[in-house]
Amino acid sequence: MYLVYPVSLWLTLALSVPTGLFLVRVFIVQHDCGHGAFFSTRGANTLVGRLCSLITLTPYANWARQHGAHHANWNNLDRRTTGSDIYSACLTVREYQALSRWRRLLYRLPRHPLIAHVLLPPLIFALLYRLPFDTPRAWMRERMSVHLTNASLVTMFAILVLLLGWHEVLLVHAPILVVSSISGVWLFFAAASLRGVALVGRRGMELRGSVARRFVLAPPSADPPLAHGQHRLSSCAPPQPSRAQLPAARLP
Ligand SMILES: [Zn+2]
Repeated sequence: MYLVYPVSLWLTLALSVPTGLFLVRVFIVQHDCGHGAFFSTRGANTLVGRLCSLITLTPYANWARQHGAHHANWNNLDRRTTGSDIYSACLTVREYQALSRWRRLLYRLPRHPLIAHVLLPPLIFALLYRLPFDTPRAWMRERMSVHLTNASLVTMFAILVLLLGWHEVLLVHAPILVVSSISGVWLFFAAASLRGVALVGRRGMELRGSVARRFVLAPPSADPPLAHGQHRLSSCAPPQPSRAQLPAARLP
């Protein structure tokens, strides 16, 4: 893209689409390294995961541990943490209806499609991942990975700006960031909203179906819960009753 930039800005912008999608693939490699699944040895996973993190702007150790906790707790209503992950966490209908009007607005606003899927994704990768704001203080190694990734990125982009100029660097990397973050976050969101996924708690199943668009209630313990820790992208969802069989609850 740097070679094409002096020839045509439009061609450079067009190339940001396949480049951004390639970046999503790099993120998937980093994800698999974080699960210890891309190579057979821990050292190889860590090395490649760290290298990928310099391209994806995502601190490897911090993201890998938080993502592991996400897998462990995601569909367990009794083990929800901060709820800051708006792409996979949600309230039950009962919990939502118990909120005040103001808190309902605060809950729904960041989940508006324009905000959640267009505005937030580039900010998450460019700004939010620069700060260990939701990383516990005891996670020293993970917090350090945020700072080391930041230092590496500052060095890398400073060299690029010195060699090529800030204008070129901005117009090459910003569109790639927009394309990759929006498509990558949507992929994560879609994986958390697959038909057949279920959120379960002590009372049994609370939510089932496309939890993103509307909540579909099933009778408690109507079906066996999904195994926790099951990876959604590679999971086989159990057979699901048709929507007509489930009473739907509309949000006020
Ligand atoms: Zn995963």
